[in-house]
Amino acid sequence: MAILPPPVFVHSLIGHLPLFAAIGHTPLIELTRVGRLPLGVRLFAKAEFMNPGGSVKDRAAAAMVLDGIERGLLPDPTFPLADRPRGSVPTIIDATSGNTGIALAMIGAAIGVPVALVMPENTSPERKSTMRHLGARVIDTVSAAEGSDGAFEAVREIVGRDPDAYFYPDQYNNPANARAHEFGTGAEIWEQTDGTVTHFVASMGTSGTFTGTARRLKREDPRVRAIAVQPDSPLHGIEGTKHMGSTIRPSILDETLIDAVQPISTEDAYDLTRSLARHEGLFCGISSGANVAASLRVAATAPPGSTLVTVLPDSGSRYLSDRFWGTEGARS
Ligand code: PMP
Repeated sequence: MAILPPPVFVHSLIGHLPLFAAIGHTPLIELTRVGRLPLGVRLFAKAEFMNPGGSVKDRAAAAMVLDGIERGLLPDPTFPLADRPRGSVPTIIDATSGNTGIALAMIGAAIGVPVALVMPENTSPERKSTMRHLGARVIDTVSAAEGSDGAFEAVREIVGRDPDAYFYPDQYNNPANARAHEFGTGAEIWEQTDGTVTHFVASMGTSGTFTGTARRLKREDPRVRAIAVQPDSPLHGIEGTKHMGSTIRPSILDETLIDAVQPISTEDAYDLTRSLARHEGLFCGISSGANVAASLRVAATAPPGSTLVTVLPDSGSRYLSDRFWGTEGARS
């Protein structure tokens, strides 16, 4: 298990909590049919939708919660629930319209800690009900037209009123988020490619995946190139990812790790999302399509012998009510 570097306490906790041990170690799948690759260039995708909560965000949520437990901000989950003093358990709270919320709700349920999630009111109904079924309280705030900044303000206001009542992981600014990928995703990719990886391609939401994975791969081999995927729209389009000019600037983003930026239009991301389903049998979310579209562009000019790795952050089932799948399913 490698969600975090291995302090003895965290390791012994993971041993007590089977759910934590089920996060990570996702398969690395070679993509051979989704697009043309130059001779001698291979493309692999890390199947993050296979995490127990269905997305890459299980890694960050687990790492941030374990870090909170280690710092004494959350109760030791191995301590019997019935023996906890009343009122001593803070509520995990965050602003999230999707995968992080589901991951936190899942982990909160598994360790007996309440979870409250603040989100834009037009977050898809299937996500909200997933979080509710996992026992989380869903707090609606502003519409997505205003971005998710309104949800952030709402969380800060709620936490500010009674700081002791909440644990706020603050995923955009929590180094444990990137560490989850440095010690998990990045280490796994290095191992799964037998150290042959030459390029890592990923979109950014909090930038935890990009920063942590790129940091690890470059430490293993400084020649590894890290390419950031830039969606064409700062607000809409590719769920879970942000335009780098967005008002939310994650402090965990290490820009020195970015070797190149690959722009991708929302339409290209949609096309590749459909192609992944139809030609590779991989039913994924839209940021997966964006990542693979960007990887194919990078591959087109990569030298023979290159091994590209990208990420499939979540499943297409999370987007069934989105217009792009259409009522009759994929058409391409
Ligand atoms: N894709 C999806 C679907 C996501 O939910 C996220 C997380 N917001 C990302 C990509 C980006 O991951 P990260 O936050 O680690 O940058």
